Amino acid sequence: MTTTHKHQIVIVGGGTAGITVAAQLQRKHQDRNFDIVIIEPSEKHYYQPMWTLVGGGIFPKEKSCRDEKDYIPQNVKWLKEKVVGFHPTDNFIELGSGDKVAYEFLIVCPGIQIDWHKIDGLTDTLGKNGVCSNYSYETVHKTWENIHSLKEGVALFTQPGMPIKCAGAPQKALYLAEDYFRKNNLRNKVDVQFALAGPRIFGVEKYRNALEHVLERKEINPFYEHNLIAVRGESKEAIFMDLKNQKEVVKKFDMLHAVPPMSSPDFIKQSQIADKDGWVDVDKYTTQHNTFKNIFSLGDASSLPTSRTGAAIRKEAPVLVENLISYMDGKPLNAKYDGYSSCPIVTGYGSLILAEFDYDGTPAETFPFDQAQERYSMYLLKLYGLPLLYWEGMLKGRA
Ligand SMILES: Cc1cc2nc3c(=O)[nH]c(=O)nc-3n(C[C@H](O)[C@H](O)[C@H](O)COP(=O)(O)OP(=O)(O)OC[C@H]3O[C@@H](n4cnc5c(N)ncnc54)[C@H](O)[C@@H]3O)c2cc1C
Repeated sequence: MTTTHKHQIVIVGGGTAGITVAAQLQRKHQDRNFDIVIIEPSEKHYYQPMWTLVGGGIFPKEKSCRDEKDYIPQNVKWLKEKVVGFHPTDNFIELGSGDKVAYEFLIVCPGIQIDWHKIDGLTDTLGKNGVCSNYSYETVHKTWENIHSLKEGVALFTQPGMPIKCAGAPQKALYLAEDYFRKNNLRNKVDVQFALAGPRIFGVEKYRNALEHVLERKEINPFYEHNLIAVRGESKEAIFMDLKNQKEVVKKFDMLHAVPPMSSPDFIKQSQIADKDGWVDVDKYTTQHNTFKNIFSLGDASSLPTSRTGAAIRKEAPVLVENLISYMDGKPLNAKYDGYSSCPIVTGYGSLILAEFDYDGTPAETFPFDQAQERYSMYLLKLYGLPLLYWEGMLKGRA
């Protein structure tokens, strides 16, 4: 027998965005006694930005993982279920169990889908044959195992076409590995290669210029417009499509850090709330759905045309909360999200470029110094400051 639950505010996904929004609704608007439910199937919550550091051997992966139950805000309910379908004209959603949840207001934030299957042969060999990826909790420790055990040969790093979450993360893995080989006198024996689908290293000019110097110093010549399409684990070969010349290129490797393409989750793509590219179709300034006005979205699954990061969510969440409340009260939606996103690009053990920018690609820096310069202080911020800001600030509705 199926049950129909009813809640005033339903949040789909209890990751970075879902918990942040729920915590802000609770903390800042306690007096309104909202009836909120988060629908989230996972018992674990991951601080994914730490996976870069896990792959670089700086922290064990367990440090990035906590129990979801400890971060569900007080007075917010948790349904440990998967959402499978949307009925936006009738204001209810369907769960994997067959139950339904009716809502007055819906916030959709189930993150991005990692399309491992789109790289032929990758799932069979991931975690074996020198093949690893920082993009999953299950395999992230293998990156460090591979870096640490490689004494000679080719260390190959890849990056797919956009959009992916944290567009800088594939090159952070590259820079840490290169630094490890250099510091351990292996750099003349290990050929470090980077093959990426895009035509340039970073979208924002100021940081691109700085990163091109980093690549030069590290003696890495990127293979631009090379898109990974297949991996043959046994023979240690990666097959790329050379997008410029429209031909396949085979590269031998001893270790391969693979980053697969990503897209909107299938259950969003197939729903009425998706735009033509599959993302939850929202206004880029207000975060309100373009058709169904009682639906809002933020984070990686939303159509907000910015770089998909937790840092972006930190600025999206207060805008969404303010506009949701205005909408409830029949007032105009005045809060505007300017596209702010940030990428702390670790360039080695002890150095970091803190890229911050808005929708126009204009730098939007926090500190009163040039953040395109590699700095030790910003590296420490990434290791210790940002995790604290995440667990104690964002997820508690304080930042
Ligand atoms: C290697 C790596 C490095 C990164 N580095 C940085 C960084 O340095 N700085 C930064 O700001 N960001 C970084 N990010 C990106 C950041 O982690 C994401 O942008 C952010 O977590 C997205 O938040 P979200 O809530 O949209 O999705 P998520 O946090 O991924 O949460 C989505 C949630 O939805 C749930 N869900 C999925 N399907 C369903 C369903 N059917 N029904 C209900 N719930 C569902 C999932 O279980 C999950 O808990 C990095 C990410 C990675 C992988």
